[in-house]
Amino acid sequence: MPDVAVIGGGAAGFFAAINIKKKHPGLKVHIYEKSRTVLGKVKVSGGGRCNVTHACFIPEDLVRYYPRGHKELLSVFQRFNPIHTIEWFHRNGVRLKTESDGRMFPVSDDSQTIIDCFLGNCTRLDIPVHTNHAVQEIEKTDGGFNLKINDKIVKASKIVVSPGSSEHFWNMLKMLGHTIVPPVPSLFTFNIKHPLLKELMGLSLANATVKLVIGNAVCKANKLREDDLAQSGPLLITHWGLSGPAVLKLSSVAARVLNQVNYEFDILLNLTGKEAGEVDRTLQSSKQENSKKRIVNTPLFNIPSRLWTRLLEVSLNRTDMNWADLSKKDMALLSESLYAFRLPVKGKSTFKEEFVTAGGVDLKEVDFKTMESKAVPGLYLAGEVLNIDALTGGFNFQAAWSEGWMISESI
Ligand SMILES: Cc1cc2nc3c(=O)[nH]c(=O)nc-3n(C[C@H](O)[C@H](O)[C@H](O)COP(=O)(O)OP(=O)(O)OC[C@H]3O[C@@H](n4cnc5c(N)ncnc54)[C@H](O)[C@@H]3O)c2cc1C
Repeated sequence: MPDVAVIGGGAAGFFAAINIKKKHPGLKVHIYEKSRTVLGKVKVSGGGRCNVTHACFIPEDLVRYYPRGHKELLSVFQRFNPIHTIEWFHRNGVRLKTESDGRMFPVSDDSQTIIDCFLGNCTRLDIPVHTNHAVQEIEKTDGGFNLKINDKIVKASKIVVSPGSSEHFWNMLKMLGHTIVPPVPSLFTFNIKHPLLKELMGLSLANATVKLVIGNAVCKANKLREDDLAQSGPLLITHWGLSGPAVLKLSSVAARVLNQVNYEFDILLNLTGKEAGEVDRTLQSSKQENSKKRIVNTPLFNIPSRLWTRLLEVSLNRTDMNWADLSKKDMALLSESLYAFRLPVKGKSTFKEEFVTAGGVDLKEVDFKTMESKAVPGLYLAGEVLNIDALTGGFNFQAAWSEGWMISESI
């Protein structure tokens, strides 16, 4: 009989199990995984390279990347943050490197390095890993828990619940007295069919702003601030529509609202990343300086020339004008198209590098000093099962490591 049964052989479960065993070698710690293999998501993460964490070392800054969980994670990150993650992996034989955007990967650029590190630890520390062992039911008893696994009962004094996003598991947790915030997808790209983007796949902009057009009432009901509705960053035109950091940030911040409107909404696209006034001024200067030149041959704001040409076609219906020919009305049209092009989004697509679920166990029901459930003493929670999720960039794994480590400190 294990002292601690860890349910789910993913990032959070392995990190918790290994750290519990390192701190309490006398405890029997077992991992139960329903699939044939463990750490499946780690394997495919970060395009097969595993974006382990992010080079953001100040807890107050780090929590800003978590649309859900920022308040609760602050105290957790004060105790275990990316500095500790780097040290932990270093001590366990894995060196991490930082890319220019702050994302951190194993120097091997291979997620298998992380898997080998975890499995090696389990062998050395004598942590049995039971694959093909799905936990079907959980019963709380006086001394601990009865787990129904493959139709047999396994007893455990304490359990770590880290099954990722699992409808089945959330239902079990509901039966034990937990509230589950309904799960919705986060980190996705926008499907848009519009002449502006047609056949421009692969083009990117270094800095654009994407703003969600939704009513004030919806905004208020979802506790979204005006600032949340506009996200800036690089933008990528894909076969289906738009992707890139600005879109992914918006999909995460507004995950719940976008689900409510069934992923049909409008966005205002600012191709320049600049304020309206600055766009107007830049157009005016260009009209004076380039008066005899073709507009189509003098793209502004670093907009790729194919997109610039398309913008002229769509907003002015022609591409053969010189700057001097631009009427006041044309100027206003072009300006508005540059900083507030309205595009209809119809549906979403999966971002293959990383996608997560927003929703899960209500955070009010978890003690973040210990990661123990307030509803069920002896039950600890970590990872995507909680109503915590982050932007792309290594933050989701960081939450899993930090929560797993907190459990090992408190169990
Ligand atoms: C394609 C992709 C790429 C990603 N890349 C990154 C990245 O590079 N960086 C980053 O920070 N985040 C990334 N993420 C997000 C990250 O993978 C998750 O946040 C993280 O895996 C969550 O860890 P977890 O342990 O909570 O859940 P999981 O990793 O999903 O593990 C849960 C495990 O529990 C098992 N399980 C479920 N139910 C039961 C049951 N009843 N009994 C026993 N076992 C059960 C599951 O089979 C699974 O193995 C990516 C996600 C995806 C989908």
